[in-house]
Amino acid sequence: MTFHREETVLIPESDLDGMSLDTLAVRAGQLRTGQLEHSDAIFPTSSFVYTSAAQAAARFGGEEPGNIYSRFTNPTVQAFEGRIAAMEGGERAVATSSGMAAILSTCMALLKSGDHVICSRGVFGTTNVLFQKYMAKFGVETSFVSLTDLDEWSSAVRPDTRMLFIETPSNPLCEVADMEALAKLAHDNGALFVVDNCFCTPVLQRPLEHGADIVIHSATKYLDGQGRCVGGVVVGPTKLMDEVYGFLRSAGPTMSPFNAWVFHKGLETLPIRMRAHCDNALELAAWLEQQPEVERVFYAGLESHPQHALAKKQQKGFGGVLAFCLKGGREEAWKFIDATRMISITANLGDVKTTITHPATTTHGRLSPEDKSGAGITENLLRLSVGIEAVEDLKTDLHRGFQALQNASNT
Ligand SMILES: *Cc1c(COP(=O)(O)O)cnc(C)c1O
Repeated sequence: MTFHREETVLIPESDLDGMSLDTLAVRAGQLRTGQLEHSDAIFPTSSFVYTSAAQAAARFGGEEPGNIYSRFTNPTVQAFEGRIAAMEGGERAVATSSGMAAILSTCMALLKSGDHVICSRGVFGTTNVLFQKYMAKFGVETSFVSLTDLDEWSSAVRPDTRMLFIETPSNPLCEVADMEALAKLAHDNGALFVVDNCFCTPVLQRPLEHGADIVIHSATKYLDGQGRCVGGVVVGPTKLMDEVYGFLRSAGPTMSPFNAWVFHKGLETLPIRMRAHCDNALELAAWLEQQPEVERVFYAGLESHPQHALAKKQQKGFGGVLAFCLKGGREEAWKFIDATRMISITANLGDVKTTITHPATTTHGRLSPEDKSGAGITENLLRLSVGIEAVEDLKTDLHRGFQALQNASNT
């Protein structure tokens, strides 16, 4: 049986007008072929055929919309793009091969040699490298400032500043940026405001509603949520996304149909997963704060957090990532990690499985000692990406860590 294009329909988005995010996560951007499958089909094809030579010419000439080649468009990728765009409240989404490809494509499409970027200091390590090493090679200079110090942002603005780039909350210390203030600063100075929304996802925070021009995701993290695929996406107004799409189409860091299908299905459970991550993380953060071996807990859901009020205003929940300092140094931190038996020792985050990381020797290991201390990455700091296991079982496993520290101090 052959499928004709006429039989493949994107279910009309207008039917979903005014519906909530939980519904959009399950229903937006759904594709259905003539087979009337309930779950979405995958289109693992590099190219598409035409019903005639004239149609091929019309497609290539841009007179007729439709698929040509999967570096340009692919139905499965478009289904994922439609769903995440609806969830972020953006006009258009462009999917990419990784979160880094999403950031790179945004920069390549919207910046040029001679432009200046201001970026928050605590961003994902590779984002730092991309700006500092690679964008710099093409004449784009980046200044790094404190995520939370608005005066530092204002002082860093120059006549050639074209982009303000942040992650909020930050990794791993959960600092929270005032998005509305930064959006105003960007727009008063003719710059774009770009937010990497990896930690919150649209379920907890929709940056476009707080003045961001562009939202970026590493879909690898919560959007998938089960650690299966690497991917990314950029969301924003059509005018800007057309430029990002143009870069992708020419340069090629596009998302594969298989990965798009995994992310598309991942989005269906994102709202309930995020609520479970948040509930577990909040409970663990409060529990950790009471442990005698813990010096300090970093989690925006705690009243002790300096931006607790701002996080409450901007976010619907405080997310699944938290960090804490043990009393002691690297030895205690490693001893604690090694005593856990269920929690995964890995630097990945956003998974339904809880993971534990020692940032100073892994994710932030490349930073100089000065940069580490500037970023608050101390040797006694641990990061937890809290999964959706039963919180009592997570406490049991973490208790093994505390027990190991107690045993060591008793001998
Ligand atoms: C992982 C991550 C990235 C990079 O995404 P990849 O999919 O690994 O390329 C970017 N930003 C944040 C905040 C991340 O956690």
